[in-house]
Amino acid sequence: MELVLFWHRRDLRLKDNIGLFQAHQKTAKVLGVFCFDPQLLKKDQVAPARIKYLLGCLQELQENYRRVGSDLLILNADPVTAISNLAQTLNATGVFWNQDIEPYSRKRDRAVQSALEEQGITVQTFWDQLLHSPGDILTKSDEPYKVYTPFWKNWQKQDKATPTGEIKSLDGLTSEEHRKADTVGVIPLPKLNDLGFSWENELPLTPGESAARDRLQWFCDRAILDYDQNRNYPAIEGTSILSAALKFGAIGIREVWEATNQAEENTRSDEARDNINAWRQELAWREFYQHALYFFPELAKGPYREQFKSFPWENNQDHFEAWCNGETGYPIVDAAMRQLNTTGWMHNRCRMIVASFLTKDLIINWQWGEAYFMQTLFDGDLAANNGGWQWSASSGMDPKPLRIFNPASQAQKFDPDGEYIRYWLPELNSIDTGNLLTGNISPLEREGLGYTAPIIDHKQQQRKFKQLYQQQKDNL
Ligand code: FAD
Repeated sequence: MELVLFWHRRDLRLKDNIGLFQAHQKTAKVLGVFCFDPQLLKKDQVAPARIKYLLGCLQELQENYRRVGSDLLILNADPVTAISNLAQTLNATGVFWNQDIEPYSRKRDRAVQSALEEQGITVQTFWDQLLHSPGDILTKSDEPYKVYTPFWKNWQKQDKATPTGEIKSLDGLTSEEHRKADTVGVIPLPKLNDLGFSWENELPLTPGESAARDRLQWFCDRAILDYDQNRNYPAIEGTSILSAALKFGAIGIREVWEATNQAEENTRSDEARDNINAWRQELAWREFYQHALYFFPELAKGPYREQFKSFPWENNQDHFEAWCNGETGYPIVDAAMRQLNTTGWMHNRCRMIVASFLTKDLIINWQWGEAYFMQTLFDGDLAANNGGWQWSASSGMDPKPLRIFNPASQAQKFDPDGEYIRYWLPELNSIDTGNLLTGNISPLEREGLGYTAPIIDHKQQQRKFKQLYQQQKDNL
């Protein structure tokens, strides 16, 4: 029987997987493959928490393949040679995969495709990770959007596909074929420390398809109905925490969309519908940034706006380390960085606060922050992270030029009882809420509590940043 390999990358599931579904339409003998690409495992670019999540997803995917009669084989080498060697050794007629938008992945995929086609092996690729793939949502003059709001208006009007079915049964390799596969670098699923990483803490979301589905169900039954009211308060569990599941495709995006439709059908309240729609707008942000990176791959390399290309960042190394370690002396910033370092996740409101603080208060190049987030976030994703950082630094496509967050007023507005700050900075428990939020804590008190003095003065730095920004504009 004809054998097709399905190469999994950001689609670690059997259900609602367009490429896998198409492979199964072609033949019952489909073998899953995952390849640890050394280019994507570089220590300074990945977070141990993210690799732990990935491994957990792969483990469940492998179990699911075995349950339906086939297998997920694991490779640990350059995909250009590893995938083609495996396909050739097993006499596969085709290799299928779902496309990605990241510049490196696109280049790598072209190389893998050429290597396979040179051997006469058919390649078929599909779009799966987005509700609308790049090129589907364009302006009236057929250009990619550079601004979110018109993108969203167009995106939300378009019909969305429904989930593809689950794969229930597959034909597996013979033992002879398994033996052959072992000769071309197939390895058992590695443990985290086999890959040179360690992460002892619990992850914000259990890895894998079933946990992602359970979480989606929980969210769409409850928190989504109050999403818009709650989503900005980091002390409330008001968001889905599905970001890593969406990044690695532990859940299909069409299944996610269908769950929002179901939530809408289940409610009669207009307010709840508005909340559901607010969450859909976040899914659209995810797609906006992926389309942007697809059409403007230069975004991954640096600022989009001209005046940021030669911005005189101060780049003080000690300040950067204090920011990374949650030791800036600004309670809301430090609480957020400690949440990130301990859990691998940070609330979106806090991501905006710490990003503004790094760029506008510490006057440190946003790309340092972008890199640190990629080294720590369990949901770290090039398109979303780069988009978030360029938005916060005011260096991106966003038309609003200058956005500076005041840490004290952000804390007063979004953590009014100081609950989030106290959770992450228990040493400040005894400070009354008003002073906790504004950071109005005397040097003596700080010393007594073992909490650092502010490393900069917000007002002064804000003025300085504005001057530098204006000078850059004038020089253009
Ligand atoms: P929810 O509020 O439940 O949103 C649902 C989903 O929509 C998210 O899971 C995510 O896939 C998507 N989403 C939500 N907000 C955004 C957004 N602003 N941009 C793009 N997609 C969004 N998100 C990442 O997935 N990976 C990152 O590396 C990342 N880095 C960021 C860096 C900065 C500086 C900022 C400001 C934002 C970043 N975000 C990133 C976006 C956002 O903070 C996270 O997606 C969100 O906090 C994840 O939590 P959630 O799943 O509970 O989100």
